[in-house]
Amino acid sequence: MATTARNGSGEALDTLDTLDALATGPSSSGDLDATYDVVVVGGGAAGLNGAVALGRARRSVLVVDAGEPRNAPAAHVHNFLTRDGTPPADLLAAGRAEVARYGGRLLRGTVTAARQVTNGSARTGDARFVVDLADGRVVRARRLLVATGLVDELPPVPGVAELWGRDVLHCPYCHGWEVRDQAIGILGTGPMAVHGALLWRNWSPDIVLFLHTAPALSAEQAEELAARGVRVITGEVAALELENDRLAGVRLTSGEIVPREAVVVAPRFTARSGILAGLGLTTTDLEMGGHVFGSSIPADSRGATAVPGVWVAGNVTDLVGQVISVAAAGLWAGAQINADLIAEDTARAVESYRAREPVPEEPYSAGMEAEVTERVLGGRRHGL
Ligand SMILES: Cc1cc2nc3c(=O)[nH]c(=O)nc-3n(C[C@H](O)[C@H](O)[C@H](O)COP(=O)(O)OP(=O)(O)OC[C@H]3O[C@@H](n4cnc5c(N)ncnc54)[C@H](O)[C@@H]3O)c2cc1C
Repeated sequence: MATTARNGSGEALDTLDTLDALATGPSSSGDLDATYDVVVVGGGAAGLNGAVALGRARRSVLVVDAGEPRNAPAAHVHNFLTRDGTPPADLLAAGRAEVARYGGRLLRGTVTAARQVTNGSARTGDARFVVDLADGRVVRARRLLVATGLVDELPPVPGVAELWGRDVLHCPYCHGWEVRDQAIGILGTGPMAVHGALLWRNWSPDIVLFLHTAPALSAEQAEELAARGVRVITGEVAALELENDRLAGVRLTSGEIVPREAVVVAPRFTARSGILAGLGLTTTDLEMGGHVFGSSIPADSRGATAVPGVWVAGNVTDLVGQVISVAAAGLWAGAQINADLIAEDTARAVESYRAREPVPEEPYSAGMEAEVTERVLGGRRHGL
């Protein structure tokens, strides 16, 4: 997996260096343990908060992170109470330090596969899972927390990928305030294009809806857009025009260029689920207005999947989760995993308690005393 995450200014992020420093810091030796209570796959906000909860619950935790958080291209994290405006890399560096503070181990790397093993075998102890790392190492885990995030599949229009997360946006709650009152274009690629245009109209009076590959408007939609002062341009977009690595405008196939300062796209949100597929878990498509906008791994409200012992948190299961909400989901999954381990530990303890050797009778027990008295004194003893 490439490790060239960049910030809003196009600078390479130092998250991986920080991660390395923590991974080889004083709290952790260079070698990995053979078995962890929990291996967390993915060290974004969801995985890290899960690891903090588990570390504080005195569980041994390994976080393996490839270092490609979804919001890496953005300059700042917004809508995170008390941390609004923090660069994404800084937030994660602080999260990793918190994991390390509670004894969690952090490793830069990629998990290539995970598989179930027989629970409680002599070879694996009480680990249920074997986890393969890209560097060839193998670790075992009693539980897995998979927080691998999602991939934003961008529309194949030249210029979109280059400006993604800077002048090409998708989420008004992440970027809307920063581009308020600017000239914004909506790139229509599906039936939600009108919804997007009306949504972003909240942040700017200058909205142009480029219908591009979106369906033709109904009379009602055309009226709503007109009433809100949204201009509609039919015909396909050929490319985004860039000047000095910033957006200058939207070029139509007719050659016309419409000046814009920001363009909104609707990516397809695809869960990073490769590891989970190997464990027998498949994604479910999610629809809005009859349009599939992404795929995610189903889980219950605790993050438990259909495979016992495999838990998920964050964008891999919640496609619309924001940083603060995926962090909360990670915490909750971590707490539930701890409860699951407590249940298993207790069941094992009861099993061995019941199977223990019977305690030999005391040499001077009350029963023995009575027998000796009977034999020695017979009918002369007191109490008859
Ligand atoms: C451009 C942009 C701007 C955004 N701005 C905001 C904002 O301002 N505020 C906000 O709340 N939200 C924002 N978001 C949404 C935010 O990015 C997500 O809510 C958040 O990143 C989800 O966290 P996560 O932990 O689920 O996944 P991620 O942050 O994506 O972390 C997943 C981690 O898992 C790693 N990984 C994946 N597969 C493996 C593997 N096999 N082995 C090891 N590691 C692996 C990845 O490399 C990555 O580091 C923005 C999103 C985008 C695209």
